[in-house]
Amino acid sequence: MSHWLEDLKKAIPEERILTSLADRHSYSFDASFGEYLPEAVVQAKEKEEVVAVFKLANRYRVPVYPRGSGTCLSGGPLPVHGGIVLDMSQWPKKIDHRPDDLTVTVTPSVLTARINEEAEKHGLMYAPDPSSAHVATIGGNLAENSGGPRGLKYGVTKDHVIGLEVITPEGEVMRTGGGTIKNVTGYDLTKLIVGSEGTLGVIVEATLKLMPKPPAVQTMMVAFDHVRKAGEAISKTLTSGILPSKMEFMDQACIVAVENFKPVGLPVHAAAVVILELDGHPETLKVERKLVEEIMERIGAKEVIIPKTEEEAENIWHARKQVSPAIAKIKPTKVSEDATVPRSKIPDFMDRLQEIKEKFDVEVVAFGHAGDGNLHPNVLCDKRNKEEMKRVELAVEEMFKAAIELGGTLSGEHGIGTMKAPFMELELGEVGVDMMKRLKDAWDPNHIMNPGKIFVEKGQRLVLTDE
Ligand SMILES: Cc1cc2nc3c(=O)[nH]c(=O)nc-3n(C[C@H](O)[C@H](O)[C@H](O)COP(=O)(O)OP(=O)(O)OC[C@H]3O[C@@H](n4cnc5c(N)ncnc54)[C@H](O)[C@@H]3O)c2cc1C
Repeated sequence: MSHWLEDLKKAIPEERILTSLADRHSYSFDASFGEYLPEAVVQAKEKEEVVAVFKLANRYRVPVYPRGSGTCLSGGPLPVHGGIVLDMSQWPKKIDHRPDDLTVTVTPSVLTARINEEAEKHGLMYAPDPSSAHVATIGGNLAENSGGPRGLKYGVTKDHVIGLEVITPEGEVMRTGGGTIKNVTGYDLTKLIVGSEGTLGVIVEATLKLMPKPPAVQTMMVAFDHVRKAGEAISKTLTSGILPSKMEFMDQACIVAVENFKPVGLPVHAAAVVILELDGHPETLKVERKLVEEIMERIGAKEVIIPKTEEEAENIWHARKQVSPAIAKIKPTKVSEDATVPRSKIPDFMDRLQEIKEKFDVEVVAFGHAGDGNLHPNVLCDKRNKEEMKRVELAVEEMFKAAIELGGTLSGEHGIGTMKAPFMELELGEVGVDMMKRLKDAWDPNHIMNPGKIFVEKGQRLVLTDE
């Protein structure tokens, strides 16, 4: 037995240390690519345990990989260099509401959807709404700076965090921010931790901002006979003075996939649909709905569908949520990307995706939070077909380049992890990446905290097969 494992067993109750092959296998993957076996898993339940893990990890130079529910799409929790997976999903779940302050303090293992459910009991809402909110932890959301459809109007996770309690890679307990909405004391370490993908510390508590729940919502679905027109509709709506809470896009392949999976009556002959939600006072919504209808007609929409009941509206949003599982049925492997472009460039990005699809002869479907420029091009393929996967790798690389050339970014919400590390310099340049590395060195001098993520390692490139 390794020395460090013996010491670990002295510091943590033995029933929370998993070392059997079967247990380690179940922590070897996330929702992206690649499989890496950890040497041990610690199901942490107390701060002292996390501190003990880090003290030991620094002493023996053992890598530590924090993990929530493992739904990451970029390889964030994967133990690429073995070591310890620090499972935070078993941490005691606490949701402490302060409705008068419009804040809530939560522990990292709480599932994100639960925070909103609790907030609604006080007439409030927790705005970030990733599609995985029912299965992903708030700890994972904070580490990835996750977003969802409501990000268009309300922003992403980082816009709703006011304070954190973090255990640093050297095993110190640190508080950042606090309980106030305004706070400019010193550097904003809260924002640095949020989105750091578990490379700068383990989040053990977070204080989040809540907002009043809008009194009414209006869903609309607009069908187009050209994908480009759908892109124009998004830009025209957003520059008209109306800010919908959600504006989602699905291309025809996604529409058909959903109808084959769980039919809800989507317009299968449309080249694309835009699903949008307006929220606010019921009287305002009547006016805004009419204005959106006029914009869509002017652009030449094929059809504007207004649900007659709440149930019909829910079905439309449910259909949008079904896209991911529905397209997963088309081919065995799905490479999900989340390159994001400035909103005015959405039509150009859609054209570029079409060119890439033809150039590399790959199957690409697109859906996503188009209102904030965050499209999810998904390449559908078969991991066992090595020749096809080489073309997929080239196509994905070209998608990243296209997004950056259009003034966009590698990732709108899924993070860099292992999947996009080789492309960081494309977006940030040498100096930008170097500054991030220097920050990382200061926080984690022995590089024990989630190594192999964000920063490219020697010889690392995008590989989507098991070679
Ligand atoms: C079907 C599906 C739909 C999805 N939809 C969306 C979406 O709409 N929007 C979106 O943004 N993402 C989406 N995702 C991606 C994923 O759900 C998010 O990235 C989510 O935040 C991951 O949370 P998790 O609990 O699963 O964390 P994990 O996947 O376990 O870990 C994610 C990262 O967080 C780190 N981490 C976990 N807990 C902590 C902690 N306590 N402290 C420090 N670091 C920690 C890990 O090291 C890792 O780097 C989707 C994924 C799937 C499979």
